[in-house]
Amino acid sequence: MKGIGVNILKLIDTHCHLSMPQFKGQVEAIIDEAKAVGVERFVSVAFDEVSSEEVVSLTDRYKEQGVYASIGVHPHDSKGVAGGIPESLKGLAEKDRVVAIGETGLDYHYDHSPRGVQREVFALHINWAKEAKKPLIVHIREAYRDALGLLKSEGADEVGGIIHCFSGEKDDAFAAIDMGFYVSFAGPLTYPNNLSLKEIAALLPVERLLCETDSPYLAPQAHRGKTNKPAYVRYVYEALSEAKGIGLDELARRLWDNAKALFRWEG
Ligand SMILES: [Zn+2]
Ligand SMILES: [Zn+2]
Repeated sequence: MKGIGVNILKLIDTHCHLSMPQFKGQVEAIIDEAKAVGVERFVSVAFDEVSSEEVVSLTDRYKEQGVYASIGVHPHDSKGVAGGIPESLKGLAEKDRVVAIGETGLDYHYDHSPRGVQREVFALHINWAKEAKKPLIVHIREAYRDALGLLKSEGADEVGGIIHCFSGEKDDAFAAIDMGFYVSFAGPLTYPNNLSLKEIAALLPVERLLCETDSPYLAPQAHRGKTNKPAYVRYVYEALSEAKGIGLDELARRLWDNAKALFRWEG
């Protein structure tokens, strides 16, 4: 990381899990460390009912530091809400600093919840996002065809959102973009052998791209195998800057505008 000009950049971590036990008692320090390398905003993403409450309380506690929230139930835990999205969760979505619904989606790699239940609960989230008029944060692993199909059939283009930690093929990315979605890259973009992901990133329009950490998971190459944190989003920006041949300053400005448009931020 370069020292000069570091604080001129305004970076955003569009997907981190500040409520996870790995960050317990350290959230303030982790935010300060990220701010020191230019990270000005954080979208802290929930994955179940309890973490949805937690990320909302983080937005109150760290309002001045630029912490926002996304609430929802991860496909891993979808069997817990198969009967419908709880009203308590729906109520939380009305808060101003809750900027998205998710993470939701389909994960056929782990299959922690049955696939049929995952699809049902993903559809519930899409319709909830439409009711709440907020974009979706979508997790897809080894399930691009089904997930993109559901986004289309449930009319997710009405709200758009982010395909987070993108891991699909080029055509999947363009299909998501056609539905008004953004494609977000995480630590895997920094892995030297992940050439296909770098090639896809090079082809996609910068107006539809974002960066994230998915911390505490998926640390970038420089810290691979360790706990990831929002400060490391800087490495993802650097990898994307290189893949696209766009200077870091310009990329940071473009991605800031993308996030601002998606989350309806005024500044
Ligand atoms: Zn995810
Ligand atoms: Zn995540």
